[in-house]
Amino acid sequence: MGNGERAAASSSSVQRGIAGSFAFPPAACTAALFPFPVPCSLFPAMQYCAHAEPTRAARHPPMTLLRFDAVSKRYQGGHEALTDVSFSVQPGEMLFVTGHSGAGKSTLLRLIHLAEQPSRGTVLMEDRNLSRLTGRKVALQRRRVGVVFQDHRLLSDRTVYENVAMPLVIAGVPRAEIEPRVRKGLEKVGLAGRERAKPRELSTGEQQRVGIARAVVAEPPLLIADEPTGNLDPTLAVEIMDLFASLPSRGTTVLVASHDLGLVKRMRKRVLVLDHGKLLDDIPATELAS
Ligand code: ADP
Repeated sequence: MGNGERAAASSSSVQRGIAGSFAFPPAACTAALFPFPVPCSLFPAMQYCAHAEPTRAARHPPMTLLRFDAVSKRYQGGHEALTDVSFSVQPGEMLFVTGHSGAGKSTLLRLIHLAEQPSRGTVLMEDRNLSRLTGRKVALQRRRVGVVFQDHRLLSDRTVYENVAMPLVIAGVPRAEIEPRVRKGLEKVGLAGRERAKPRELSTGEQQRVGIARAVVAEPPLLIADEPTGNLDPTLAVEIMDLFASLPSRGTTVLVASHDLGLVKRMRKRVLVLDHGKLLDDIPATELAS
C-alpha cells in the first residue's frame, strides 16, 4: 500500500468508526415504506428517513487537526530536508515520526511550531494555513502547540513551579488560576510535591517530566516532542513514552519524533517513516498491533 492509500485508509477507518457508532438510529422506523416498524439499521438507505435524527458525524464533522499538503523544505544553501510530504492528523491521535538521522524529523516539527516556513506546499493546523499568519497571530498559534525538546530546556535558576508556570504567565493567565493549573500539570506527570525543587536537584527523567508538564500546562491541542527520550536509559524512555501515550485521552494530540525504531514499534501507534526527506510510509497502529 502506498503513502496516499495508507493515509486515506487510516482517515476513512476513523470515519467508518464514527459512522459505525452513530449513523443509524437504533429506534424502529415506521416510515411509509413499510406497514410495520422496521429497525433503520437493517436498511442503510433509511438513515435518510424522516425519523432519523441528524447523525452525530453530520452535526460535528471531524476536523483535521494538522495537515501537511505536498510540503517541501529547502534550507538556505540548497539542501532539501523535506520533499513533497503529505499527511493529516485527527484530534486525539498519538503518532510517531521516525527515520535515520538527517531524515527530516526535526524539520517537520519546526514547520509545525513555526520555527521554519515551508518552501513549497502548505501546513494547516485546524484549517489555518500557517504560512499566512502574521504578527500577533504567529504568537497565538505558537501557544497552541506545546513543545518538548530532547534537552528539556528548563531554566536552571528557576524552581520547577516557575518553569511549569512560564507558559501561563506569558499567556497572561490570572495569578489565581496559575497555581491550581501548575499543580494539576505536575500531578499529570507524577511530580506532585516537587514544586520548590530546582531542575538540577531532579533526575534526568524527572527533568524531562517537568518539560512535559510545561508543554501541556496551557492545554494546547497539539503536543510535539523532538527525540524526548534521547538522553534517557531504556527503562526511563519507556516510562516517558507511556506518559505521552496517556495524554490523548486527556484531550491532547501527540506527535513524537524518535529515531529509536524499537521503542516506536513497542508503543503500537501510527508511524510516519521519513527517508531522506520523503515520507516513505504511513503505518497505521493496527499494523503494529501484533
Ligand atoms: P533529523 O531530525 O531527522 O535528524 P533534520 O530535520 O534535523 O533531520 O535535518 C534534515 C536535513 O536538513 C539534514 O541533512 C540537515 O543537515 C539539514 N538541515 C537541518 N537544519 C538545517 C539548517 N538550519 N540549515 C541547513 N540545513 C539544515
